[in-house]
Amino acid sequence: MNVTELARKLKITPAKLRELMPQLGFDIGERAIKVDTKMAQAILEKLSNPKIRREYLGEGVVSEFKKIKKEGEGEGEDKDKEKSNIVIEIPEKIAVKELAKRMNMPVTNLILELMKSGVMASLNQEIDFETASIITEDLGYQSKKSDEEISGVERVDYDKVLQIDKKSAIARPPVVVVMGHVDHGKTKLLDAIRKTNIVDEEAGGITQHIGAYQVEKNGKWLTFIDTPGHEAFSAMRSRGAQVADVAILVVAADDGVQPQTIEAIAHIKQAGLPFIVAINKIDKTDANIDKVKGDLAKIDLNPEDWGGKTICVPISAKQGLNIDNLLETLFLVVEMEQAEIVANPNQKAVGTIIESHIDKGEGPIAAVLIQNGSLRINDLVKIGKCTGKIRAMKTWKGESVKLAGPSTPVRILGLKSAPQVGEILKVVVDKKELRKLGKVNKAMSIDRKVKIIKEEDKEKESKKLKIRIILKTDVLGTTEAIDESLEKIDQTRVTIDLVKQGMGNITEKDIENADGLSAYLIGFSVKMTSEAKKMASIKNVEVHMFDVIYDLINFIEAEIKKIAGIEKIAKKVGKFKVLKIFRNGKNWQIAGGEILEGKVILNTKANILREGEEVGEVDITEIESGKVQVKEVVAGQQAGVRVEGSVPVEEGDVLDIYKIEEK
Ligand code: GDP
Repeated sequence: MNVTELARKLKITPAKLRELMPQLGFDIGERAIKVDTKMAQAILEKLSNPKIRREYLGEGVVSEFKKIKKEGEGEGEDKDKEKSNIVIEIPEKIAVKELAKRMNMPVTNLILELMKSGVMASLNQEIDFETASIITEDLGYQSKKSDEEISGVERVDYDKVLQIDKKSAIARPPVVVVMGHVDHGKTKLLDAIRKTNIVDEEAGGITQHIGAYQVEKNGKWLTFIDTPGHEAFSAMRSRGAQVADVAILVVAADDGVQPQTIEAIAHIKQAGLPFIVAINKIDKTDANIDKVKGDLAKIDLNPEDWGGKTICVPISAKQGLNIDNLLETLFLVVEMEQAEIVANPNQKAVGTIIESHIDKGEGPIAAVLIQNGSLRINDLVKIGKCTGKIRAMKTWKGESVKLAGPSTPVRILGLKSAPQVGEILKVVVDKKELRKLGKVNKAMSIDRKVKIIKEEDKEKESKKLKIRIILKTDVLGTTEAIDESLEKIDQTRVTIDLVKQGMGNITEKDIENADGLSAYLIGFSVKMTSEAKKMASIKNVEVHMFDVIYDLINFIEAEIKKIAGIEKIAKKVGKFKVLKIFRNGKNWQIAGGEILEGKVILNTKANILREGEEVGEVDITEIESGKVQVKEVVAGQQAGVRVEGSVPVEEGDVLDIYKIEEK
């Protein structure tokens, strides 16, 4: 057995293992790479004994911990004694954040402790009971297994939910996830693969980002999760979702294995996925494929051509080099797993939400990756607390479809609220059940749009103000620390939305993102590339750089104060009853009717009320009275109005007109 593998099993670093061996009476040598199976077994047995672990591993960690605590909070010896009486309850699996909370310690310190023991885990990642209890005891507490099933987010038992009727199941396209260190080319690779499958005339921008796409090669299909990085993947896995069947680990040939590469490997291994390594950027002059292979070998991923098992394909995502080869290799890898990659399209659909947002015009929109069964138009669905009826489905190529089978990603319309990424979609048969859920949900669902706000509700509405942040930091530890500090900021009136975060210098892409998302671009202990500087000045994007977390938080708090000064208030203007539809256009109509109360005013908005229920929203873009274009018409009179919006107005509807005022 490799020393690294043994160390991993023992949840300590290989260096620590080598250091400990002589003390425990094992002679494996200072530079040992392998130990024989018998000895490995003996070491495993010895170091599984909690007493020995405490004695040989605990002291060092506890004193480190004390040091951190002393520096941070001035905690004394007495507290440590108290701690040893405290029992921390730990379920089968627990998120790092949650465990830190239970131990009442900063999550960054816990992450540090985990790292010291060779466990790379981020804030929201889950660790198993065994790892958690070792670390808890290392830190001076007692631990106890609890019966709770979940720790934080709602988890599902995937096999139970899927219930694939395997007797009549057929092969479905494998689902691929792309992971790796920031800037190693995940996005570029996903783009390059996407391009292999779009004929030129289609490439003109009609494809849509829906969180996944599909490619076909010689009649065989692959589905790619189109969100690079492991945040989305973790979000799904933290809910128990098993979306991917195979992974591509991207490693840049000019940069080698980096911290997030290691994190990605941990994710892949945890999920038990087969994977191949794409050694990217081989077009660069400083590309060094052998160095990458050496890096991989060092972390126990010995490449195939070096006698190991790790499949490496050198590529250039930028030049589209060897992409076909990469896809062929992927097919070979999944072929071996095909017996497991099956589904039954005749069952009712079950899928995982891969993207979700609220569109101003269309309301909640989500993208779902179907995993078993088929989703059909008019299907009634339930996704966590959200319900709906599928009104329309579109593929990533923008085509409307009436049915979506296994491994197909589709964008769906018709949900009452926006579900969370990673939640499971299920088709519900019983309308009664859905109605029951609907009633409960009404109170809980997210408001679709700006609603008419009564004066007393102003305070509530102001809460919806948001400040978007794109954060680039130097190392994982700081990212987590900043996350924590941001969470502590009072967000009752302005919510902080960390739209993107990553490690490394600020690049052109960050500037583009900040510009496109109207976000604050914040760098912490990083630099800006010269291209990024140029682009920032062209696009007029301000970049805020910090080296001290305290300064960063002060800055955000000051910005929040500025923003919180402005309140958006929707003021009721009047009500208009639609008596006749004169003309129907794409997203516009001319409607005739009478003003029931107040006024109809030009350039205002209106909620469409149909039988008392709000069904959509329109803009009032023209008003005609007595064949003359006017700016407003008052109650008691008739008028013709041009309305624009995605939901068509019908005869009998009442338009509840309001205008947005900033205060
Ligand atoms: P991600 O953060 O992993 O998604 O990385 P990106 O796909 O955004 O790529 C980061 C940078 O590397 C971008 O500037 C890309 O243009 C560049 N890049 C990606 N792939 C290649 C490649 O094969 N060759 C070269 N020369 N540059 C690449």
